[in-house]
Amino acid sequence: MQICYINGSFENKSDALISVEDRGFNFSDGVYEVMSFSEEVLINFKKHLDRLKRSLKELRIRSPFKNFKSLELIIKKLIQLNKVHSGYIYLQITRGTAPRNHLFPRSISPNLVIFTFSIKKDDNLIKKGVGIGLTKDKRWQRCDIKAISLLPNLLEKQNAFENGFYEIWQIRNNHITEGSTSNAFIINSRDEIQTHSKNNLILGGVARDSTLEIAKKKKIKVIEKPFTVSNLENCKEAFLTSTTVGILPVVEVENKKINSGKPGLITKMLIKGYNDYIYSQINE
Ligand code: PMP
Repeated sequence: MQICYINGSFENKSDALISVEDRGFNFSDGVYEVMSFSEEVLINFKKHLDRLKRSLKELRIRSPFKNFKSLELIIKKLIQLNKVHSGYIYLQITRGTAPRNHLFPRSISPNLVIFTFSIKKDDNLIKKGVGIGLTKDKRWQRCDIKAISLLPNLLEKQNAFENGFYEIWQIRNNHITEGSTSNAFIINSRDEIQTHSKNNLILGGVARDSTLEIAKKKKIKVIEKPFTVSNLENCKEAFLTSTTVGILPVVEVENKKINSGKPGLITKMLIKGYNDYIYSQINE
């Protein structure tokens, strides 16, 4: 039986109810976070919390917590109740429940839902790398907010899957912004890691920020500046990052090989660094 947390209580997932007038359900008026835990330790919790607070603030959604320490305790209890040691947390906060009206209701309490989930990891993806496609970025210009409205991302990810690609990288003004579910990186001709600057056109990924911190510690130069399609086609290596997959080598773009179709040395070094970084949090 799976237990989730919903508005102050722990309930069986099948009994947990949200109103049909929840504004997340009616308008996608909400934010979310996905974080991972290993051996019951929440990985990168502070980074996720900071992003969650920022998303709430940007959308002017009230926080359901007076003190975010209580969130950590709730999540830890949820992990224990579900008897899982490693996996992922999905957390969603919507503006709340109110009769349907586009305007923000004057007094409204947010709806909070948290549940755990697992993903079967395919080690081959890390070993062999993945192929990606390219598409126009059709999203709004506040991609920095982790909002639950993900339709453009879903449509593009589905198209990518149906075309045999693992992920799709999006292009705005001839520059790659990010993937539909991940951040995008290349190793350029000067052996620098290049990725889109953290602004309104991309989600500032927690795995992205961690990867850049690791790179700097390893004295690999990082350039936070958008790269073009031509930069991508001529790059030495490419990879993507997200909390759910970590770092994955990208070895083909639109069926054209990068680094002869093999994960590159710098990418491999970063993957090792990323694994060490996660272990260090577990053993803290
Ligand atoms: N960009 C987009 C559009 C995403 O959906 C995600 C994953 N939620 C990411 C980047 C990666 O973010 P994170 O590293 O925090 O998982």
